Amino acid sequence: MHTTNPYNGKLVKEYKLHTAEEVSDKIHKAHQAFETWRTVGYNQRADLLKKLAEVLTTRKTELAHLMAEEMGKPITAGSAEIEKCAKVCIYYAEHGAEFLKDEIVTTDASNSYITFQPLGVVLAVMPWNFPFWQTFRFLGPGLMAGNVALLKHASNVPGCALIIEELLKQAGFPEHVFQTLLISSDSVESIIANPLVKAVTLTGSTEAGMKVAGQAASLIKKAVLELGGSDPYIIFEDADLELAASKCAESRLINSGQSCIAAKRFIVLEEVAAQFIALFKDKMASQHPGDPMQPDTTMGPMAKVALRDELHQQVVKCIEMGAKCILGGTVEPGEHAFYPPTILTGVTKGMPAYDEELFGPVASVIVVKDEDEAICVANDSSFGLGSALFTTDLNRANRIASMQIEAGCCFINDYVRSSPDLPFGGIKQSGYGRELGVYGIKEFVNIKSVYVA
Ligand code: NDP
Repeated sequence: MHTTNPYNGKLVKEYKLHTAEEVSDKIHKAHQAFETWRTVGYNQRADLLKKLAEVLTTRKTELAHLMAEEMGKPITAGSAEIEKCAKVCIYYAEHGAEFLKDEIVTTDASNSYITFQPLGVVLAVMPWNFPFWQTFRFLGPGLMAGNVALLKHASNVPGCALIIEELLKQAGFPEHVFQTLLISSDSVESIIANPLVKAVTLTGSTEAGMKVAGQAASLIKKAVLELGGSDPYIIFEDADLELAASKCAESRLINSGQSCIAAKRFIVLEEVAAQFIALFKDKMASQHPGDPMQPDTTMGPMAKVALRDELHQQVVKCIEMGAKCILGGTVEPGEHAFYPPTILTGVTKGMPAYDEELFGPVASVIVVKDEDEAICVANDSSFGLGSALFTTDLNRANRIASMQIEAGCCFINDYVRSSPDLPFGGIKQSGYGRELGVYGIKEFVNIKSVYVA
């Protein structure tokens, strides 16, 4: 396994994969660690999570540099990601015990209650796009609940994966409550099959989710899936267009467009389409692509040349099918993975930009005649992760957001983002289960009823 810097194509480092014996040993050690960790009180777990937040904050510059090197994230964005990881640790340190306290239920028993018990060793299969955040939003609540974790990170971020182990050690966590496995995705099946592994969480593509969920289901093991998305953003005729254009561009370009909850399809009412597109184009064009190691760089390269090329093929196919490219859409020569901010208009059903996820800085604009058509197009997707509405009519916005949009969340007059206190996840092919908030910490627990006659 090796890592390549996507800014210049240079080899960063080579890593030796763990052998099957080493992996088996790590699983055993994780299980042994669980037997003790499950008995540790919430206060002690919370103290360790708070210490972990401190360690993250202290080392954030170093961690941001590592992300920049391995997957091209600009260091300013990398530092913000680490701060968010610290926040999720503090959030569960402060609220976890209250979320998991026994719930008394009045029944015909003399006493009956619900108790939330950890499951044991949980395998986390994670993607490279937010190498720390994706891991920590599972790990914070997971550890607070009393589970232990094994991480199989994406193959292009082994440095990030290994340093997470080091961070926990530095914070004082007991040995083996968290371990990184340097393995290929082919080995995941055998880990899920190990009887000591009780559950799996995967953040990644729908294809990987189908494989992993299928394997877990065949063994009756719990799985949580956070998969792809093609988030629709509806811009209504009464929207504040300046605000909408700026939020839409910001969201589309988060992490060079490589975010599952980036805005992807822009569904705009025809009355304001020309005006919105002009404003949106200005905002999309105002980025400063450059060296991710420089603090003023707002947009880095994509994470891998192969992903950039795949995205470009999707763009080319849309243009061949009749879409118009009004910004970007070209690949500059060189040993880098950059793709420019790109806008496709005239996107219609059947084109990749309508039917598939575009995991890079490419916006698809679809003009519609009225509210009904806008909702219909928004829901005409195999995905159901995030969504957003731009309108000054909050009654209409709340009605559509709560009842009519098929998604795991809907933001009004802002772009979608995850935060520790709100549950996060999707429906349809975007996955199932929730991370974060009170629901996230209850995914990997045994919700046990106790009845006293
Ligand atoms: P992948 O699904 O290729 O990779 C994600 C992780 O799954 C990696 O660790 C990868 O390992 C592993 N993996 C891939 N195939 C298998 C398999 N057959 N069995 C077991 N593990 C497997 O996704 P990308 O890394 O390319 O990330 C982009 C995709 O992830 C996009 O579709 C995006 O929307 C989605 N995503 C969803 C998020 C969400 O929260 N809902 C957040 C971020 C991304 P390896 O690298 O070794 O192949």
